[in-house]
Amino acid sequence: NTPLHELDPEIAAAVDAELGRQQSTLEMIASENFAPLAVMEAQGSVLTNKYAEGYPGRRYYGGCEHVDVAEQIAIDRIKELFGAEYANVQPHSGASANQAALFALAAPGDTILGLDLAHGGHLTHGMRLNFSGKQFNVVAYHVDDAGLVDMAEVERLAKEHRPKVIIAGWSAYPRQLDFAEFRRIADEVDAYLWVDMAHFAGLVAAGLHPNPVEHADVVTSTTHKTLGGPRGGIILARKDFAKKLNSSVFPGFQGGPLEHVIAAKAVSFKVAASEEFKERQRRTVEGARILAERLTAADAREAGVNVLSGGTDVHLILVDLRESELDGQQAEDRLHEVGITVNRNAVPNDPRPPMVTSGLRIGTPALATRGFTAEDFTEVADVIAETLKPSYDVESLKARVKALADKHPLYPGLSK
Ligand code: PLP
Repeated sequence: NTPLHELDPEIAAAVDAELGRQQSTLEMIASENFAPLAVMEAQGSVLTNKYAEGYPGRRYYGGCEHVDVAEQIAIDRIKELFGAEYANVQPHSGASANQAALFALAAPGDTILGLDLAHGGHLTHGMRLNFSGKQFNVVAYHVDDAGLVDMAEVERLAKEHRPKVIIAGWSAYPRQLDFAEFRRIADEVDAYLWVDMAHFAGLVAAGLHPNPVEHADVVTSTTHKTLGGPRGGIILARKDFAKKLNSSVFPGFQGGPLEHVIAAKAVSFKVAASEEFKERQRRTVEGARILAERLTAADAREAGVNVLSGGTDVHLILVDLRESELDGQQAEDRLHEVGITVNRNAVPNDPRPPMVTSGLRIGTPALATRGFTAEDFTEVADVIAETLKPSYDVESLKARVKALADKHPLYPGLSK
């Protein structure tokens, strides 16, 4: 029972340093968030020791009476949160949930229709090197010149290729998708509609975004982005898909479920049903809107900074740097230098290679969780706009970042 710091000082030092990084910088990677201490407590619990292949009440191991309780609570809470008839909380990650969902709906060689990775889609929606791209016949739709998903193209490609599955969902898109229109197109060509709400699930839970569960056959999500829980995945569906999806997750792709993570998911689903969570999601969306407004102002435009689609409806913005002297890598590095963490991101028809890119993806969920208000997000937006100008004062920008970080302490109880 030796504590981590004594047993493994090297790993303890890396963990401590990461805590320090999260506390002292501004985390604006759109897919990240800060899990509550109670979530991390459940995830760091003795449930990590338990094998529980199968599902609550139908396990292949003895001694599952307590993990059964935790997993059933997780299932009941997530069904209630999104109004779903069926839920599977076992996928180890978003990619695992997507793999299980896709193989439940289609067989290798079948055609799938998803948003192109370079236009905001996810690897698991048909990228060439991913299982989805290797094992399925992929047709991709795109965003139009205004940066909006081209629904006319979706319909045209659906009619031409008659996919088995149409995928609606994204990793880098600042607007809401029209799920009813996707449903209409899917019905017209007799395809399944799968929505991957990994990014915007928290907004849906808070009632700030249309709920895809009302339209899709299957909905997948991660639990660690806007939803604010532990790293992991979930699958929601109508109950007629229950058997197929359960057997696709286990024994199809996974063995023993991570019951400690499932317990942590349950805790985060409880939080996601609270008023405090809704208020936080409202600040998240408001913060993104403030960023979009600031980065489309005259001085930002003068520095060659632009915002794709002209704004945002969600928790992120996509910055277009094609007219800036900075490429995506340089802009990411510059923001890192002043203490703001973002990721570079390809813009549609990006002239630069994927490791460089001509854009940035900037998100507000983690800062909203930290307590940032509209006033704080206005200051963050100003700091970003100043940093992306041809001449910028590193020291004063660093000081402004530090003041914001100090104003909203993160995990104060964990500091030594
Ligand atoms: N789906 C979407 C839309 C995502 O953006 C992501 C993660 O970035 C995933 C799935 C995969 O989640 P994970 O990284 O947990 O496998």
